[in-house]
Amino acid sequence: MVCGDRADAIEDALAFPAENWPAPRVLACYACDPVRSRGRRHPEPAPRGRDEFQRDRDRIVHSTAFRRLVYKTQVFVNHEGDLFRTRLTHTLEVAQLARSIARGLGLHEDLVEAIALAHDLGHTPFGHAGQDALNACMRAHGGFEHNLQSLRVVDELEQRYPSFDGLNLSFETREGILKHCNRVDAHALSRSEPAGPAARFVAGTRPSLEAQLANVADEMAYNAHDIDDGVRSGLLTMDSLTELSVMRRHHAAVLRDHPALGGRRLLFEVLRRMLAEQVHDVIDFCGARLRELAPASVDAVRQMPSIVGFSDELADEVAALKRVLMRELYRHPQVVGTTDAAREVVRQLFDVYLEDPGQMPTDYAARGDRHRAIADYIAGMTDRYATREYRRLTGREPFNGFAFAAD
Ligand code: MG
Repeated sequence: MVCGDRADAIEDALAFPAENWPAPRVLACYACDPVRSRGRRHPEPAPRGRDEFQRDRDRIVHSTAFRRLVYKTQVFVNHEGDLFRTRLTHTLEVAQLARSIARGLGLHEDLVEAIALAHDLGHTPFGHAGQDALNACMRAHGGFEHNLQSLRVVDELEQRYPSFDGLNLSFETREGILKHCNRVDAHALSRSEPAGPAARFVAGTRPSLEAQLANVADEMAYNAHDIDDGVRSGLLTMDSLTELSVMRRHHAAVLRDHPALGGRRLLFEVLRRMLAEQVHDVIDFCGARLRELAPASVDAVRQMPSIVGFSDELADEVAALKRVLMRELYRHPQVVGTTDAAREVVRQLFDVYLEDPGQMPTDYAARGDRHRAIADYIAGMTDRYATREYRRLTGREPFNGFAFAAD
């Protein structure tokens, strides 16, 4: 039984269904409240003129790792075309979707934006191929995982403040950044920081709604933009996509409204409608869950089952879409060909630095944890920097000699 005041407060936060947008900014009782933040690892005076989560967002935007995202692969390697998504444009699309939904649910928009902007900071060059290769190189030394690396970037690797390493972000932003964590890593991290963001993986609890939302927005963004990039590359066709009910439905509706539409405008309109439908679906579905579960605070949210997601109907459609993207795009021989080359670049760089650490900058070469230092150094590289290093250190040409526009 939900007490009347809380039910009214939740109703106020959810009172603006999508058709009544723009919704006013309301911070619901179940949202993260910057005034009640669990704080930073190194205490700092309260920020002036902005709240704690806005400060986190601003620190992320000014970080070096954030700027590197522009030259890191999402699916297509950076040199394959100027219009494909990079980690940076992917990140901005995630932030846009997450903010839209946050407003509709009365969540803290700046926090969700901070999490979205930081969520891929730990990615290696060359996308998942780079991570797989680095993980293999690190197998006997703790492995490599990009979510953990994102946390390392904001906790340790950024070096720009006089009195601490990292960006010293608030707990709530760090909680959102550590999206996944296996039990071995969770136990290790929790030993050094018992109330830290890894503790939930030991306890089996959920993160805040802002963190859950950033995760769903990530999935929405890459599904949609990978279709766009896949079609742009010629590896996906509209025909292969209309086997999917979600694409068929929007394709037919667009052609009903605009019978003469074709080409890229038709694809854009199909994707635009698909994304809009997903945004409204998440707001409506989560709104219903929040009314039903009525969490009184973010701590109550953390004890509940996961709340942010798609309705069952859309979840099925999204799962079908992912299967087609996997089969037709991510496993396409042309994509696999470049990812094989990327794996080789990372593997070779690792071996060379291991044999001759002096090839790395002094602050990495001087570290006692040699394998982790190499992993940190390689993970921080952009695609083109890694390629230049490969060329410099091996004298060989990766990617069949494909030249970077910037070289
Ligand atoms: Mg992402």
